[in-house]
Amino acid sequence: MKTKAPVAKNERLDVTIADLTYQGMGVAKVDDFPLFIENALPGEELTIQVTKVQSHYGFARAITWKTESPDRVKDVDKTYRQTGIAPLQHLAYPAQLKFKQHQIAELFSKDHQDVEVAPTLGMDNPTQYRNKAQVPVRMIKGQLETGFYRQHSHELIPLTDFYIQDPAIDAAIVKVRDILRQFEIPAYNEINDKGVIRNIMVRRGYYSHEMMIVLISRTQKMPSQAQLVDQIHQALPEVTSIVLNVNAKKTNVIMGNVTRTLYGKPTIEDSLLGLTFAISARSFYQVNPQQTEKLYQMAIDKAGLTGKETVIDAYCGIGTISLALAKHAKQVYGVDIVPEAIEDAKVNAQKNHLSNVTFEVDKAETQMAKWQEAGLKPDVVVVDPPRKGLAESLIDATAKMAPKKVVYVSCNPATLVRDVARFQELGYAIDGPIQPVDQFPQTPHVESVTVLVKK
Ligand code: SAH
Repeated sequence: MKTKAPVAKNERLDVTIADLTYQGMGVAKVDDFPLFIENALPGEELTIQVTKVQSHYGFARAITWKTESPDRVKDVDKTYRQTGIAPLQHLAYPAQLKFKQHQIAELFSKDHQDVEVAPTLGMDNPTQYRNKAQVPVRMIKGQLETGFYRQHSHELIPLTDFYIQDPAIDAAIVKVRDILRQFEIPAYNEINDKGVIRNIMVRRGYYSHEMMIVLISRTQKMPSQAQLVDQIHQALPEVTSIVLNVNAKKTNVIMGNVTRTLYGKPTIEDSLLGLTFAISARSFYQVNPQQTEKLYQMAIDKAGLTGKETVIDAYCGIGTISLALAKHAKQVYGVDIVPEAIEDAKVNAQKNHLSNVTFEVDKAETQMAKWQEAGLKPDVVVVDPPRKGLAESLIDATAKMAPKKVVYVSCNPATLVRDVARFQELGYAIDGPIQPVDQFPQTPHVESVTVLVKK
């Protein structure tokens, strides 16, 4: 049954913001009909104008404020909201941390699960933290530009300061942009599927300061490639790796399947918790190194290892958690779906002289079932899945192996709630408070560590 919306497009009305969504938008209710409003904070009274009406909710724009939240940060640069780089920058950092803690608690309570959530572990300086940038390159008025898309669009907004990125990375993007301009490299054009350079990816080791530049090209080779590469590493002394990634498809996926090293090594190195890691262009690597150390330390502490345990690290990436745990365990098994990540993981085990780790390339759900059928009996299972969370079959295989503990590192509380419920049906219970760790300040992303124990 379709109820008629109590508001119409373009209508202006006065509302009070009741809540903040998990995307960081303010929510106002008009006769129980929710309106989502960007840049509006709980408790604020304001005049809004309705911009879009759907059957069960709508969107509106903030026009004027009658009262402002005491947690509002003034004088923010609206570009960071328009691009979605920092959708929460208008919310004071302590309130962001509370918001994230509250998000997790709320989702569990909606699912009728009674859990304790600890205060979010935050950063001292919650800006300029990202060790990786991935920026689109487009022509604007005949000039090559780098920046970020306006949210929900492919309109490039040129930017030189990305606010949450390592400033050395921001500076590198500008240098690369200028060199691309100098050689008159045409930027990719999505409309006619022509042009060359699509995106630039930059990664910089937080401790090592080694920098990797990935040029993502529609073509197999870039014009003036050799001179271009020469100029880039001369202009940027920290660069130890320049990689070409070819993506010839008409797609929103950033990287293609072909990568070629044009200068230096195919990887850069960085360290976490005193371990060294080689990272290749297509491997996942946590973007906030300072908070990652806190997150991993928490996972290690919560795993409660004594040196005698068998541990599985599902979704292991380049083996960062696996190797950190291997120092305190008898044997560690890791699995990831990306072959390059597992190649990196194997190299990383050697680099750190850890021989008690075994890595497999597979879907975690498939590999878990294989391990279970082979009779593996882990004491601890660590899972760190992408946003979609765990496959039911993975949870089932884990429960059959009956580890004493499951340490769940989650980047999406919605799927965490679902997966925890499944573990509970299979005889596991949450042990101690859930610990959120702020990996993505100024954004609404919520990362947390949950421990489940076998009852
Ligand atoms: N624990 C690692 C990686 C976490 S990110 C770290 O902290 O660095 C999630 C990882 O899951 C990525 O490396 C991704 O390649 C991998 N992945 C995604 N889907 C997967 C699947 N179905 N099976 C196994 N790995 C998967």
